[in-house]
Amino acid sequence: MNVLVINCGSSSLKYQLINSDSEEVLAKGLCERIGIDGRLVYQKAGCDKEITEAPMPTHKEAIQMVLDALVNEKTGAIASLAEVNAVGHRIVHGGEKFASSAVITDEMLAAVAECNDLAPLHNPANLIGINACKDLMPNVPMVAVFDTAFHQTMPAKAYLYGLPYEYYEKYKVRRYGFHGTSHSFVSKHTAEFLGMDINNSKIIVCHLGNGASISAVKDGKCVDTSMGLTPLEGLVMGTRSGDIDPAIMEFIAKKENLDIAGVMNVLNKKSGVFGLSKELSSDFRDLESAMNEGNEFAGNAIEVFAYRVAKYVGAYVAALNGVDAIAFTAGIGENAGLVRTKVCEYLGYLGIALDEEANAKRGEDMVISTPDSKVKVAVIPTNEELAICRETVALV
Ligand code: ADP
Repeated sequence: MNVLVINCGSSSLKYQLINSDSEEVLAKGLCERIGIDGRLVYQKAGCDKEITEAPMPTHKEAIQMVLDALVNEKTGAIASLAEVNAVGHRIVHGGEKFASSAVITDEMLAAVAECNDLAPLHNPANLIGINACKDLMPNVPMVAVFDTAFHQTMPAKAYLYGLPYEYYEKYKVRRYGFHGTSHSFVSKHTAEFLGMDINNSKIIVCHLGNGASISAVKDGKCVDTSMGLTPLEGLVMGTRSGDIDPAIMEFIAKKENLDIAGVMNVLNKKSGVFGLSKELSSDFRDLESAMNEGNEFAGNAIEVFAYRVAKYVGAYVAALNGVDAIAFTAGIGENAGLVRTKVCEYLGYLGIALDEEANAKRGEDMVISTPDSKVKVAVIPTNEELAICRETVALV
């Protein structure tokens, strides 16, 4: 069957049409600048990208344009919309209500809307996309796949903050974790690729992209992860600070004369390696070349990033009471050999040894530790769209 995977943001929408039998991507692309003007990028497998500028006042027009492109006589990937058998939607926050993916019903959407205040920027956009699809394809089954679901197996000791307990009871303030679709996909695939029994395994997944998080996965279930109530906690990221002393917020607010929203903007958009590099870039390709040209701030940013990753891995070795395999994934994890080297240098005490020749390669599943390394280290490219497609097929 064919599954249309939709990932809706507030002004953008990414899509892929996947044949679930062959797991081949038939077409993919994105709509940008929804509500502003509108731009559709469409690419049929094996063909060049097509770019169309057209008004997209809402997500409904955007999705209509995607559907029109998919069935276009000349460049469409399918003959008619009857060939879209199911739609899989990414939803950012499922709160404590969703520990797994779910078939979309009106009742279920009401439960998602109750999680909106936990992800006020993302969930409403996700819901708009779902409703637009329901209007345009009323008879096609749809499934919601949550970023938070995989982490719902965390024990209370991992998800509770050291805050008054009533905040958890009244407002559900706790750690949730994100990138769950990726952590689930990569941990399973790591076990398969390395020939391990997932039911008897300790795996640490480092999802290092612009947003970055780490998870500790025991016997296939998440026991801890670095993001919290929101995706701001944990690692130093592209533009997000990750863990800081919370008292810094008041200190900076006073010094810079900022309100809460102003401080949050700094922590989300002006911090991380972008802030550390004096706003040079949040992209590791730029940081690496600047560092090679002697830019000390870029060098520091990379060091701070790698050190934080290594500290979290160390913490998760304790959480798991050991580790069999460490997997690197996402833009930085898959491509930046330098970062993997730096992280693994801190982990020599675990008996980890990197095969630098393997570590220099890119773009495929690979083992990058030496045969005698006590812990296997692997690069496992993530594929969140394929994971959403598989979840959708399993449920419809
Ligand atoms: P997200 O999905 O969170 O936007 P990605 O997983 O796509 O992030 O990762 C994007 C990041 O990956 C870029 O900002 C860049 O830092 C890094 N990246 C991508 N390609 C390379 C590369 N060849 N070398 C080093 N870093 C890379």
